[in-house]
Amino acid sequence: MTIFWFRRDLRLEDNAGLYRALKAHKNVLPLFIFDKNILSHLEDKQDARVTFLYDAVHELQQKMRDLGSDMLIRYGSSAEVWQSLIADYQIDAVYCNHDFEPSAIERDAQVKDLLSQKNIALHTFKDHVIFEKNEVTKDDGKPYTVFTPYSRKWKAKLASRISNWTNENGEEKQLSFYFKPYPNEKYVGHFFQKTIDNQSFISLESMGFTRNEMEFPPKTVAMKLIKEYDEKRNFPALPGTSRLGIHFRFGTISIREKALKALFLNETFLNELIWRDFYAQILFHFPHVQKNAFRKEYDEIQWEINEAHFQQWCEGKTGYPLVDAGMRELNATGFMHNRVRMITASFLTKHLLIDWRWGEAYFAKKLLDFDLASNSGGWQWAAGCGTDAAPYFRIFNPEEQMKKFDKEQKYIKKWVPEYGTVKYIKPIIDHKFARERCLQRYKIGLKKE
Ligand code: FAD
Repeated sequence: MTIFWFRRDLRLEDNAGLYRALKAHKNVLPLFIFDKNILSHLEDKQDARVTFLYDAVHELQQKMRDLGSDMLIRYGSSAEVWQSLIADYQIDAVYCNHDFEPSAIERDAQVKDLLSQKNIALHTFKDHVIFEKNEVTKDDGKPYTVFTPYSRKWKAKLASRISNWTNENGEEKQLSFYFKPYPNEKYVGHFFQKTIDNQSFISLESMGFTRNEMEFPPKTVAMKLIKEYDEKRNFPALPGTSRLGIHFRFGTISIREKALKALFLNETFLNELIWRDFYAQILFHFPHVQKNAFRKEYDEIQWEINEAHFQQWCEGKTGYPLVDAGMRELNATGFMHNRVRMITASFLTKHLLIDWRWGEAYFAKKLLDFDLASNSGGWQWAAGCGTDAAPYFRIFNPEEQMKKFDKEQKYIKKWVPEYGTVKYIKPIIDHKFARERCLQRYKIGLKKE
């Protein structure tokens, strides 16, 4: 039998690795592993992302059962689970899609090693992004570290792929971009043809979690929203962005399908999807960004160790209404609008001079769409130490941002109802003082002048 290992690609449709497995083999059994190594690090035992993942996996299993097949679901460390699968099943080959996070690369190397000891081949494919690794590089083959030239080359490459694709009807040409054939009778028949009788049921509780009743954004987005994306995306009071982040994160939707739509509907939306690819390739080529500044000289900045300020920021009690609204939205819903992510991150790193890693870790705990590459990219942009970083001397003024992007204070009033009354707290830091302190501290750290 052939095993297809689902990870952050939880769908049957347009799944690159799954399609390749079904095309090449006739007895394909899907697998999902609830990885103990990842789950044990989550502090919140009611983490909404675990509920989302759990439901997505069971939905897939149900779809497989409807097809007269099944899906293996296991709980344990990946290495342990693979050891037991190798012992229990006669496996010819294993297929999966690439994952670029450093810990995933390490996990996959370990599994590859285990499999190769039994002469089982591991076949891996690109699925999570449009272009990966070295597919979009400078002419000298080096990775791009600035977005605009990267995005230009990215678009040119996509255009050439699509023209090849649309010129032909043949399956191989489709393979170059879009893995449409599922659901297709021919391939569906290649799934393992039985249900598995003796599979023990794994509950959320048995993994140490309880269900979170949070409502998740849908997988689909109105065409109108994408068409008007460039006009509305900067205003947090409007439903102007797609909220697809969590689905991209877990692969419950296909990036190829959405990028194709974006290409025809709205270039600004397409650009955002390119940012996602851009940060994924940055993490792949420069894995140090997981823990350190992309620009190493920024690791010299002397951050404030101020737990009280950090706590006030986390709770949305800074006395800066847009910052507070954003943090309260995040705490209540697991989502924060992009404009407000930039403002809250800038406030933490520049006004409060707190290490971007503290904020990055807090977002990682709370965001439904948490993604290591984009989160690190976004935080480092705000702190000034990343790839296309805002220069250190550009410091967002939260008041001005409010006037520009929440003029009628609709967003603020929704999340900070006491704003404008005596109950609202005074700013925990003065803007002018914070700005000057920041400029001075960054200058010393970066040895400017
Ligand atoms: P839309 O605006 O509808 O965009 C569509 C999709 O494009 C998003 O779902 C996302 O996959 C991608 N995208 C959009 N903007 C960006 C961007 N700037 N960088 C990379 N991809 C982008 N995005 C994450 O997916 N995970 C994170 O953990 C994350 N952390 C961030 C932290 C900070 C400090 C900042 C400033 C930004 C962060 N972003 C992150 C990027 C961006 O804020 C979110 O992708 C976006 O707000 C998600 O909302 P949406 O799905 O409605 O996006």
